[in-house]
Amino acid sequence: MDKMSLEEMLAKYGFEQFKWISGNDLVIRQWVRLKCQFTCPDYGTKAMCGPNMPSIEECERFFSEYSLVAVIHKEVQGDDSVVEEYNESLLELEREVFLSGHYKAMALMLGGCHHCRECTGRIETCRFKEKSRPNPEAMGVDVFTTVGNIGLPIEVLTDHQQPQNRYGFLLVK
Ligand code: SF4
Repeated sequence: MDKMSLEEMLAKYGFEQFKWISGNDLVIRQWVRLKCQFTCPDYGTKAMCGPNMPSIEECERFFSEYSLVAVIHKEVQGDDSVVEEYNESLLELEREVFLSGHYKAMALMLGGCHHCRECTGRIETCRFKEKSRPNPEAMGVDVFTTVGNIGLPIEVLTDHQQPQNRYGFLLVK
């Protein structure tokens, strides 16, 4: 399947703002992992976050095995339902891309997984594995540098009311 057909699928699920990169263009950094570990109040409580994630070296190797990745932009302003809808569409897209023959297809979702009132905290006991995926930061992706390198907007915000430039990823092949 060519890129144009993939782009038609992206558009079908409402993803109009995206760029293609290679897995090697994803910037993977140890500081991302340690910042999660030392500053995130959810660290250790979510199945799809640290410390359940592969090592940074394993993440780097994982991404290097992909030659085509869609970086998919979403502007979010204060409404979590927008993120939930985005993630649902991203998982539907992942499935359609997989069924089209791209057997390696895998999505990295926006934000954390919020399907359960209380997460089990372990991948082995995740209640909805078919609907949950790690977010890019959990996999060590320096999202600021990765998207900045390809000219997409992102900035540190100083006010919760400001529009946020958020990013999910679809690893294709
Ligand atoms: S589906 Fe439930 S158990 Fe699995 S990661 Fe999401 S919140 Fe946790």
